[in-house]
Amino acid sequence: MITPEVQKLLIPTLKKYFGYDSFRSQQEAIIQNVLSGSDSLVIMPTGGGKSICFQLPALLLNGVTLVISPLIALMKDQVDGLNANGIPAAYVNSSLADAERNTILENIADKKLKLVYVAPESLSYLSTVINEENVSCIAIDEAHCISSWGHDFRPSYQQLGFLKNQLPKIPIIALTATADKATRDDILNQLNISEAKQFISSFDRKNIHLEVRPANDRINQVIDFIEQHPNESGIIYCLSRKTTEQIASKLQQNGISAKAYHAGLNFNERSSIQEEFIFDKTPIICATIAFGMGIDKSNVRWVVHYNMPKNIEGYYQEIGRSGRDGLNAKALLFHSYADVIQLRKFIDGSTNEEVQIAKLDRMKQFTEATTCRRKILLSYFGELKEENCGNCDVCENPPQFIDGTIIAQKALSAVTRLQEKEAVGIVIDVLRGAKNATVIDRGYNHIKTYGMGADTSWKDWQHYIIQLINQGYLEIAFHKHNALQLTDFSKKVLFEKEQVLLSKPVEISRNVTDKITKKSKKTKDSLFELLRKLRYNISLEENIPAYLIFNDATLRE
Ligand code: ADP
Ligand code: MG
Ligand code: ZN
Repeated sequence: MITPEVQKLLIPTLKKYFGYDSFRSQQEAIIQNVLSGSDSLVIMPTGGGKSICFQLPALLLNGVTLVISPLIALMKDQVDGLNANGIPAAYVNSSLADAERNTILENIADKKLKLVYVAPESLSYLSTVINEENVSCIAIDEAHCISSWGHDFRPSYQQLGFLKNQLPKIPIIALTATADKATRDDILNQLNISEAKQFISSFDRKNIHLEVRPANDRINQVIDFIEQHPNESGIIYCLSRKTTEQIASKLQQNGISAKAYHAGLNFNERSSIQEEFIFDKTPIICATIAFGMGIDKSNVRWVVHYNMPKNIEGYYQEIGRSGRDGLNAKALLFHSYADVIQLRKFIDGSTNEEVQIAKLDRMKQFTEATTCRRKILLSYFGELKEENCGNCDVCENPPQFIDGTIIAQKALSAVTRLQEKEAVGIVIDVLRGAKNATVIDRGYNHIKTYGMGADTSWKDWQHYIIQLINQGYLEIAFHKHNALQLTDFSKKVLFEKEQVLLSKPVEISRNVTDKITKKSKKTKDSLFELLRKLRYNISLEENIPAYLIFNDATLRE
């Protein structure tokens, strides 16, 4: 609770320092929580207005608010912006001279600064002034960086747990645009703020049209796409530095103004490309995921994923950079199993391998979806929607559905009988009455649902269960060995006889696939057309044999 006197100051302060007349949806509640001395976790989409949630309280609290941010390159801009609004702010990083840093330390002790931005690696410069006397609040921006379950893990973020121990009375506010449930829990745990109040904004960005296409001949697809969207600003995300450069030069050859951006360029090159993009001098950037974090450009009209992102959080954050002005925008993702294999190789041997593989699987399932894509994205972030969005390729061109209520009931009761402890594979084995060692050893051949789905093939079960996940009837607990678990929606199926619609699995015989590789490109293209109509996302690339692509089971092995 905050006093009525402080409450009365909120709007005038917003108006005076930021020039706005009213708060956006959750900003006021968040600010009240911070001012009352409690910890907060804020999940709000990019462009939602997270900064004000700690900048405004900083002005009303007595002392300095430390803002921990990984974006050293942008700190200066942010601080300049605050200073221009009459807010005393500074940043600390290794680029400053000792004398400059000492002045900042003195100003903190003299209570002359309201906000100090600092990268986690540079916190040690401030160690003499970090105490409850000087510090009024600690904001941790881009908080997903703390979790190796998130998509942008930074080891330097992992030491931040000391802040709560050292300053137990000082409120912490952690903010990010992307964190699924597992990552949220991890953030709270690591920052020692398990009691923090969570403010989770809707992730729905209705104005962004979603589309997934197979990646065959994607460079020409990209050129076509750009030609259909003249004079629009867009970002093409690629997996490798090399690809960004190849595509940029290919586009240039086709008379399209585009530049490559990646971490291999030096600081000056990167800043000037960012600037050209922001001021519409270079409308199109071919970039690695290094591009975009913290870039405040409202009129990006489209985002193309030339390669598949490694997880849904990254994807959603990247497409979220389009349409920030609320006008229509497009997100086009190319789906290729070559990318899946490549991403899988990157994961091998990395930290949290198991979690990352599962997240990549979810990404792959999203691309293969036969249900509204927005529903899938939102359910991934824990937001369940009843209605289809009408603004994605699946909604516009829906597949044929069958009544899958009985199928869903069987799957959900198997998950229940398995006490929500087993991953997809075992659930299917149990449904099919498999006699493998795991099933027998764990005694699953004695539970009630064992063998109840023996009439459906393994692959079809997989197809159905993925849809149940995508529709929000089941979820995967990444931090519990990918166990399938029930959701709030499951009850409706199990106890309220809710009807579930599932798309039919598409059958493509091995025979056909073997033939196409030998046929001309023309035949290939018409086949793709057909497969696309069937909503079966397939990519056929020169370097991958066809059987690998069409036979999903091959990939799993
Ligand atoms: P985020 O950090 O969530 O990506 P920012 O804090 O950078 O977003 O804010 C995005 C934009 O929204 C900024 O231009 C900011 O000034 C603007 N903004 C924030 N709060 C409000 C508000 N209450 N009214 C109008 N504009 C706002
Ligand atoms: Mg921000
Ligand atoms: Zn939709």
